[in-house]
Amino acid sequence: MLYLSTRGQSPSISFKEAVLAGLATDGGLYIPVTCPNVSSEEIRNFNGLSYIDLSFRIMRKFIGPELSDTNLSDIVHASYCGFGVGDFCPTEPVEKNQYLLELFHGPTLAFKDFAMQFIGNLFEFYLKAGSEKLTIVTATSGDTGAAAVEAFKGKEGVELFVLFPQGRISKLQRLQMTTVSHSNVHPIAIEGDFDDCQRMVKTLFGDNQFKCRVSLSAVNSINWARILAQIVYFFKSVLDINLSGDRINVAVPTGNFGDVYSGYIAKKMGLPINKLLIATNKNDILKRTMETGIYEKKDVIPSVAPSMDIQISSNFERLLLDLCEGNSRDVCMLMNDLTDNDAFKLSKKRLDRFKKDFYSCSGTDEQLKEEISYIYKNHDRIICPHTAAGIIGARKFINERPGSKVITLATAHPSKFRDTIGDTLGIEPDIPARLQKVLGLAENYDFLPAKTDLLKEFITAKVQH
Ligand SMILES: *Cc1c(COP(=O)(O)O)cnc(C)c1O
Repeated sequence: MLYLSTRGQSPSISFKEAVLAGLATDGGLYIPVTCPNVSSEEIRNFNGLSYIDLSFRIMRKFIGPELSDTNLSDIVHASYCGFGVGDFCPTEPVEKNQYLLELFHGPTLAFKDFAMQFIGNLFEFYLKAGSEKLTIVTATSGDTGAAAVEAFKGKEGVELFVLFPQGRISKLQRLQMTTVSHSNVHPIAIEGDFDDCQRMVKTLFGDNQFKCRVSLSAVNSINWARILAQIVYFFKSVLDINLSGDRINVAVPTGNFGDVYSGYIAKKMGLPINKLLIATNKNDILKRTMETGIYEKKDVIPSVAPSMDIQISSNFERLLLDLCEGNSRDVCMLMNDLTDNDAFKLSKKRLDRFKKDFYSCSGTDEQLKEEISYIYKNHDRIICPHTAAGIIGARKFINERPGSKVITLATAHPSKFRDTIGDTLGIEPDIPARLQKVLGLAENYDFLPAKTDLLKEFITAKVQH
């Protein structure tokens, strides 16, 4: 399977190259040349497979013979064996026609672990095979960073730099990144918001000289391996519910559009999904786009669901290529508009294509908190604020189209957002042992202004290639 850039200006490359590079040299994102199909019979045959076996079957379709069955199987095994015994991503009923897919049972208690553990093991495998060294720089709105630290700490050949917006992530999220003692992990608090962090990372990737000098790589959701690993749980959840012929809808709390894009790929492969619900907080660029056809960047507003405090949803560019019917020149034009004017406009045809597969909804802080209270009072369940955005969307969708069934992705464990939960419910969720252990530890991290030059100096000084 070959991978090409959404902007069409980089040569097509193998899975390994696409994954190790992260971002394409033309600034685009890698996608597979074709989307593999899965027949309904094959989907039926997926029933009863373990998560690890299901991952293997699905991933195999996207990775050429360059990675042997045994190696892929070992990598998948190493990635998920730490998630615990039994079903570590159960789909549970919450109320009539509503289900929750719990994705917070991994090492850092957010769905990011599913993809990050996979990428960590994949990189380790590739780096062991050669003598290469890599510098990974990633921006985080909270959970990516923690998952990356957990996946890469102590991994040979990798130096990890994590940029997080100072004061804009929860304390537990910060502690998860700043309390590890491995010398290859470098958390940095940036004086800015998540979009500043993301922009700095993108600028580094635009500097080919720097990129080559430090062997730069990205594990943000722009990395195809992240998208790939996330496709699997959409299959698992839909199989678990075992619909008889109905198409299901899936509500996905959304920031960078990575998770929901994985759901879109699952649908494209043949999984019976009707609509994908893009659920956001008040940073609602995608909802506005769906309403007006104009994708317009505004300032990021801090919210109680900080992992979704994003205005530029990087992975939307991947969908854009489909909305433009594969015409990468049009994608380039739209992305240039975004750089020059902070906005681009979708034609009516493209907007209609967007609406065909997606639905959008958003919630203010008040609404997210109301939803947390509602679910607690009526179902005795504590959900995280991001998950609440998903449930708001699910409820709205079901009201508009009675009889629809919706799975909402529960993207993080509520204890990662204790202050908000405490404020809302007057009680604090129990902290699982996995998170508890970071509480008493000393923190170690650096501060930088949102200036790419300073970041380059910082990285260069730490990386001795
Ligand atoms: C990252 C994250 C999201 C958003 O996912 P994207 O793939 O960036 O759209 C939602 N909820 C939580 C808890 C997250 O950590």
